[in-house]
Amino acid sequence: MNMKIKERILGNKVNISFEVFPPKTDARFDNVILAVDEIAKLQPSFISVTYGAGGGTSKNTVKIASHIQNDLHVDSIAHLTCVSSTKEEVKQRISELKEQGIQNILALRGDIPQDISFPIPNQYKYAYELIEDIKSQGDFCIGAACYPEGHVESEHKEEDIAHLKQKVDCGVDFLTTQMFFDNSVFYNFLYRIREKGITVPVLPGIMPVTNGKQIARSCQLSGAVLPTRFRAIVDRFGDNPKAMQQAGVIYATDQIIDLIANGIKNIHVYSMNKPEVAVAIMNNLSEILK
Ligand code: FAD
Repeated sequence: MNMKIKERILGNKVNISFEVFPPKTDARFDNVILAVDEIAKLQPSFISVTYGAGGGTSKNTVKIASHIQNDLHVDSIAHLTCVSSTKEEVKQRISELKEQGIQNILALRGDIPQDISFPIPNQYKYAYELIEDIKSQGDFCIGAACYPEGHVESEHKEEDIAHLKQKVDCGVDFLTTQMFFDNSVFYNFLYRIREKGITVPVLPGIMPVTNGKQIARSCQLSGAVLPTRFRAIVDRFGDNPKAMQQAGVIYATDQIIDLIANGIKNIHVYSMNKPEVAVAIMNNLSEILK
């Protein structure tokens, strides 16, 4: 039965969820569906579907989220960004999600493209404004993003947490974190946000690194820090894709086991469109999740 994620993540069971992204071109659509079908066989607690930065792949986000939920009977959450859309376009997306029976939305602003002036008058500037709009349009379960190492645009972590509190107070049901590679960063963040009165569930986002070159760039863009231990792994195995994938999956598994051991029950894995990575993680946790 389809459920809202805020209900799915209650209880004592450990839940693992995965993430996929829509194809950049329609020609790749079937390949993405094949990957999604394999990931769904693992029966994750839910699968999230990202939203293309420029908004161009948005119809595919809705289609894939609908396929996961309505054909594969696994809960899905559609990401929705507002940075490249007018308020009317955002409204249109929300009504499409409603029509498809998608109950869960991860509401995001999106990264501001360098070559545009933002915001133009008919756009939302921050995710909290998008959240207010979603709230006014139906009974959705709303997730939002948070950044244990601080959002790149924010000069001070305290200021970032104050903005996060404002966002959550607009009606966020749960948060998912940006990737991090040192669990102490997450535990410390949890402590700081709880102290500021943010009480919603927070799902740590774990990235199994499979491409050494890409991760250096992603970290540069997102501000996530690669600990020395992990940097050594990337330096040693980054040029050997199979070895890098194996090491990345083991490092991610180690992070997940530590999170579970410390009482975290809901963990989101940035498996992207790699069923083999999702399968390897689940195999590594087979006894732990029983
Ligand atoms: P916001 O919450 O609006 O915050 C953006 C910045 O504005 C922060 O620095 C914040 O401190 C500041 N801010 C917020 N409110 C105020 C205020 N009132 N006054 C002044 N400053 C304020 N991107 C995509 O394009 N597609 C995706 O599918 C996608 N999925 C993601 C999933 C997760 C779990 C995460 C962590 C990120 C994802 N992103 C995605 C990236 C995200 O869109 C970017 O990180 C973006 O730059 C910020 O989005 P946000 O929703 O966190 O923005």
